[in-house]
Amino acid sequence: MDGIAAITSRIAEIRGTLGSVGAPRVVIATTTATRAAGTTSSSTTSSTSGAFATALATEVANRTAAPSSPGTLDAKGVPTDLAAYGNGKIPREALSEIAGTGHRLWSPAARQYEQLSAAAKRDGVTIGITDSYRTYESQVDLAERKGLYKNGGLAAVPGTSDHGWGRSLDLKLDSNALAWMRENGAAYGFKEDVPRESWHWTYYPPGS
Ligand SMILES: [Zn+2]
Repeated sequence: MDGIAAITSRIAEIRGTLGSVGAPRVVIATTTATRAAGTTSSSTTSSTSGAFATALATEVANRTAAPSSPGTLDAKGVPTDLAAYGNGKIPREALSEIAGTGHRLWSPAARQYEQLSAAAKRDGVTIGITDSYRTYESQVDLAERKGLYKNGGLAAVPGTSDHGWGRSLDLKLDSNALAWMRENGAAYGFKEDVPRESWHWTYYPPGS
């Protein structure tokens, strides 16, 4: 879901909540008209519209505090804004930290993972991160230690891993957390995309 769609759907939710406690949707216009007529608006009306305005302002602030684009991939699945650097060769400042973790990813993936992580927490699910962006050198090292996936090992051919584009995370998932990811990960763009590796999740922007 992109930012605008998210705000629109959240506004609909807030309206739904207020509607269910009996507040009319036109309450803000009514209040304005009453003020324009030089009379004091009723406390019931202003507190209701105030609640809506406060909820809306909070939501807009949350959504716009860290403006983020969902990102785009080229035909090879490479983030278009990082392609020029090369797999595993991305400078630190071109990636974004997943807040509070020390792990870095392609910015759209980092922002989406923060949303995912917060949602999991609200559901009482804890998800840890084992690995994130991987340099070319660390891909070489991993291939030597774990073997290539195509030979039955666990490493991509160096220079081809989605970790090298900052799109993939290796997660610490107990069975409960894995079930949560399989249920909810896709809503944030994260897909379990390597058979035999239930810990490996990759970010796919909408439409990719
Ligand atoms: Zn992985």
